[in-house]
Amino acid sequence: MPKLPDWIESSLLERQQSNLMRAPVVLAGAQTPQVVMDGKPYVAFCSNDYLGLANHPRLIKALKQSVDECGVGSGASHLVIGHTSSHEKLENEIAQWLGCERVLLFSAGYMANLGAVAALGHKTRDVISDKLNHASLIDGARLSDSRLRRYVHNDVASCERLLKKSLEGSLLITDGVFSMDGDMAPLANLSSIAQKYNALMMVDDAHGIGCVGRLGKGSMEVEGLDFNDIPLLMGTFGKAIGTAGAFVATSNVMADYLTQFARPYIYTTAMSPVMASITCESVSLLQSGEGEDLRGKLESNICYFRRKMQSFPFDLMSSPTAIQPILIGESSVALEMSEKLKHKGIWCAAIRPPTVPVGSSRLRITLSASHSIDDIDSLINALEYSLPS
Ligand SMILES: *Cc1c(COP(=O)(O)O)cnc(C)c1O
Repeated sequence: MPKLPDWIESSLLERQQSNLMRAPVVLAGAQTPQVVMDGKPYVAFCSNDYLGLANHPRLIKALKQSVDECGVGSGASHLVIGHTSSHEKLENEIAQWLGCERVLLFSAGYMANLGAVAALGHKTRDVISDKLNHASLIDGARLSDSRLRRYVHNDVASCERLLKKSLEGSLLITDGVFSMDGDMAPLANLSSIAQKYNALMMVDDAHGIGCVGRLGKGSMEVEGLDFNDIPLLMGTFGKAIGTAGAFVATSNVMADYLTQFARPYIYTTAMSPVMASITCESVSLLQSGEGEDLRGKLESNICYFRRKMQSFPFDLMSSPTAIQPILIGESSVALEMSEKLKHKGIWCAAIRPPTVPVGSSRLRITLSASHSIDDIDSLINALEYSLPS
C-alpha cells in the first residue's frame, strides 16, 4: 500500500480525541431485542425495528415462497428491465393503504430523500428545512444547488418568517417523527403556511410510518391530513416495516416528474423482487388486527417506560413515540454511560455529533413491541447503575 496522505490520519485522530470515533459492531443472528455481540448476550434498545417485524415468521415464510417464484436479483434499474410484478404490486398496495395516486420505490430512504429533494430544489427556489431534519434531506438540498434555509426546530413562526422571505415555489421539508428526539412535527400548521406561501411540502416519515396513526398510516394521518394537504410523503421499509428500501407517495404527475428527474431512482438497480414481496406482506400485516396489536403493545411499552422513569435524575425528552432519548450533553459522559449499560447486559449506542448538535450527545433509547416488561425493567435498573459519578 502506498502511504496515505497525512490528512486522513489527522482527521481520524481528531475524531478519536473528541470521543467521536465510530465503528460497527457485529451482531450474531437475527435482529431481535435479545442479541449476541462479541459472544456475549445483551438486550438491545437501539434498533429501529419498532414492531419486531424484522424477524417475523410471516415475513420469513413470504420470503421463502417468493424466492422460488421470482429469484433473487432484479437485474436492472426500474426503467430498464428491473421493475417486476412484485415491485408493481408493492407500489399499488402502498398507494391504496395511504390513499395517494402513485408510489415510487427507492433502494433506501437516503436515496429517496436525495432523489426527491434534489429533483425538486433548484437555484431559483429555496429549500426550507427544520434544523433537526435528517442528513439525507440536507444532502438532497445541497445537490440541488438551492439555498438551504433552516428554521428553529418545530417552530411554525420561525418557518413562516423564512417562507415570507424565500423565493416563489420553495420546498418545505420536515421529518414527521424526529429521528434523534422522537417528537413529532406540527404538520397541520406547517401545511397551512406552506399553502399560504405557495410552497411545495414534503414529509420524511421514516419513524412514523407503520408505528403511528390509524392502520399505521403515519404522522400525516395522526393530524388528519391527506395528499391534498401535503403532496409528498417519504417512508422507509428498514424501520417499523422490518425490511429494507423506501418509497415516495404522491400524485400521478409528481411521480411522472420524479421518474424523469430523480437521479437516485433512475441510475440504480431496483431493489430485489424478494424484498418487494416481503415488504408487501409486511404492509398488509400492518393493516391487520395483528398490526393493531403490535402498535398497542409498543404504545403500552412506551407508557410503562416513561412512567417508571419519572424519578430518574436525567429528564426524558418530551416524546410520545418509540424513540425515548436521554439527553446527556458531553460525548465522553454518554460513551461512559453506554459502556456501563453494556456491563449490565444492555446495548444502547451513544449518539454523538455530527448526528446530533454539539453538546447534546445522548442515549437514544428505542422501544419495540417485542420488548417485554422484564426487558424494560432491566434497562431501568441498568440506567440507575450507569449514572455518572
Ligand atoms: C433512517 C432515516 C432515513 C434513511 O432511510 P434508510 O432507508 O435507512 O436509508 C431517512 N430519514 C430519516 C428521518 C431516517 O431516520
